[in-house]
Amino acid sequence: MLRTHTCGELTVQDAGKEVTLSGWVFRSRDQGGMVFIDLRDRYGFTQLVFLNPAKNMAGKGAYRKQMSDAELQSLYDSSKTLGREYVIKATGIVQERSNKNPNITTGDIEILVESLEVLNASKTPPFTLEDETDGGDELRMKYRYLDLRRDAVKDNLLNRHKVAKAIREYLDGQGFADIETPFLIKSTPEGARDFVVPSRVNQGEFYALPQSPQTFKQLLMVAGFDRYYQIVRCFRDEDLRADRQPEFTQIDCEMAFVEQEDVLNMFEGMVKYAFKKVRNIEFPNFPRMTYADALRLYGNDKPDIRFGMLLHEITSVVKGKGFKVLDDAEYAGVISVPGASEYTRKQTDDLTEFVKRPQIGAKGLIYVKYSEDGSLKSSVDKFYTPDDLKKWAEAAEAKPGDLLLVVSGDKATSRRALSELRLEMGNRLGLRDKNVYKPLWVLDFPLLEQDKETGRWVACHHPFTSWKKEDEHYFETAPGEIRANAYDLVINGVELSSGSVRIHDRGKQEKMFQAIGLSKEEWEKKFSFILNAFEYGAPPHGGIAFGFDRFCSICISNEDYIRDFIAFPKNNAGRDTMMDTPATINEEQLKELGIQVNAPE
Ligand code: ASP
Repeated sequence: MLRTHTCGELTVQDAGKEVTLSGWVFRSRDQGGMVFIDLRDRYGFTQLVFLNPAKNMAGKGAYRKQMSDAELQSLYDSSKTLGREYVIKATGIVQERSNKNPNITTGDIEILVESLEVLNASKTPPFTLEDETDGGDELRMKYRYLDLRRDAVKDNLLNRHKVAKAIREYLDGQGFADIETPFLIKSTPEGARDFVVPSRVNQGEFYALPQSPQTFKQLLMVAGFDRYYQIVRCFRDEDLRADRQPEFTQIDCEMAFVEQEDVLNMFEGMVKYAFKKVRNIEFPNFPRMTYADALRLYGNDKPDIRFGMLLHEITSVVKGKGFKVLDDAEYAGVISVPGASEYTRKQTDDLTEFVKRPQIGAKGLIYVKYSEDGSLKSSVDKFYTPDDLKKWAEAAEAKPGDLLLVVSGDKATSRRALSELRLEMGNRLGLRDKNVYKPLWVLDFPLLEQDKETGRWVACHHPFTSWKKEDEHYFETAPGEIRANAYDLVINGVELSSGSVRIHDRGKQEKMFQAIGLSKEEWEKKFSFILNAFEYGAPPHGGIAFGFDRFCSICISNEDYIRDFIAFPKNNAGRDTMMDTPATINEEQLKELGIQVNAPE
């Protein structure tokens, strides 16, 4: 028998028992008279003791087994040869420790070892497997199986399992059926590029890996399954950004015979259930905000509502004083930062640099210091009197002691800059508390947006999303004004899920394809399967998908860092450095697939 117990379960109640444990040597300490080894497995640590017979004859009485001095000596000697991460099996007697460790569950006991077997030796790991490891990111990724032995990373994955279990419990309780959909498919448009798989038997033809099971889940509704879900891998060949994974997991859901309200309630329930189950956190009902308000008040469509510092538009207030920058601006907006009126020149310069970074793209930053004594001083005093500035402060709902930060220019860029500035100030002032969760539904997203480069209209969510009847007339006049029946769930400024009520009518679906510039030939070629399905009794339906990796990261650590919650993630360049892939394939394979690769120059 390789073990009678795990390394996480023995307590004083077990004192006197003979037990066998197997695991990894985590730490060892040679104290001359005895050797202590912390044996580790998934469940915890247990301290093993090996007595030096030459120095510890007193302890001998505790052994059960009859052992000669030579045997004891050899046992003791072999304990000293065990390196870090050796896999061993030890049998011995559970005894109460004199030196207890209240921090671990097995801290009251130790095992007096009577026999030891090395199950497998280990090379010295390339980094320490402590919580605070000395290994850099790349090294830990290359040896991910070692990194996964570290408590912090291991716990993340075990907690991920708990989240998945809670979600399955909830959805099962609501009558959702888990149905698998294929991975080798034709493109499903979610706005990214497809990963493609060449077909050997149909040379020159390719499958696409699903960016989501969107069309399949809709077809399952046409088929009558009514409530579907899947915790499923999705693949998107996007430009790489920090913490983007080319493959990631979604909790993908769809319901028939529903309106938006039904979907929101169902999945608000799911989030509440999972947070309660995994973290024992209870949420009140989630507030809701329209997309338009989110942009107006927070400058972006995924507001972090843990703190205020809202945006206020002051475009009309600032004009007409001869300051060209503001006179010409499409938009001027302000946030007031509490208690920052005494910021130094260096600090305000820093903030100016911050908004001018290319990722943010503002042209500059104007500030007004609203001192405790009520006086107002700004970076544009040349153009504005204290009375003028007072009007700004009123519009910004500022109080004495606040620092007003003003950004102007085109509306979208200025709002984005103010949003970033708000989040940055929120961080600096400690307003983004990790112990606080503030979920929010964002509703009424636009249906279409114009691609900046091509000028073409593209679907904001995806082209299967329905629109508000009352906005239909905008198709001809102002497509950007059409509001979709689309919603996002945001927590603490992180988008956790997106969904929509779908189109279920062929004519409407064709109208949408037309709006995004597809020709009849194109949509027939790409989407006739779903258009046909809509002619065979497609019920009204809608759904949602949650980024499951992100869900776990937020739920468990309240951080947006998905890589820590994926067993074998890719690095920022999309590589798996452990397997060393993507990799070339051999000539033979290429030939079989009918693919010609040009030799690199
Ligand atoms: N398929 C969508 C996505 O991946 C989610 C949905 O509309 O259900 O974002």
